[in-house]
Amino acid sequence: MAYKITSQCISCNLCLSACPNDAVKMIDDRPWIDPNLCTNCVDTVYTVPQCKAGCPTCNGCVKEPTDYWEGWFANYNRIIAKLTNKQDYWENWFNCYSQKFAEQLSQRHQDEKAVSC
Ligand code: SF4
Ligand code: SF4
Repeated sequence: MAYKITSQCISCNLCLSACPNDAVKMIDDRPWIDPNLCTNCVDTVYTVPQCKAGCPTCNGCVKEPTDYWEGWFANYNRIIAKLTNKQDYWENWFNCYSQKFAEQLSQRHQDEKAVSC
């Protein structure tokens, strides 16, 4: 089961350099994850998928379900989490990490703009 790029991707290209397996490619100026190269970051030094961890949109790269029932349970869990206001620990972690990362990125862009003026 590989990760995939979703419509929420803003083409910031951060995942290209973040992937330890060089699985993220550019096709027609849009990132695409080669399912034959993506290992979900298993067997690397990382404990979490690097594309998702660094994605500033939170849902620009998501795990692709392998079969109907995995997709069904993923949707079910997401809806139940919304209805009960409970979220998965890792979902919270990723959201928090991505938000901080996006803030730092934005700050760095502002600093670079200020220096170049
Ligand atoms: S890090 Fe996220 S938003 Fe940036 S290119 Fe990759 S999937 Fe798209
Ligand atoms: S899950 Fe890991 S191996 Fe797969 S595309 Fe993302 S960073 Fe690359």
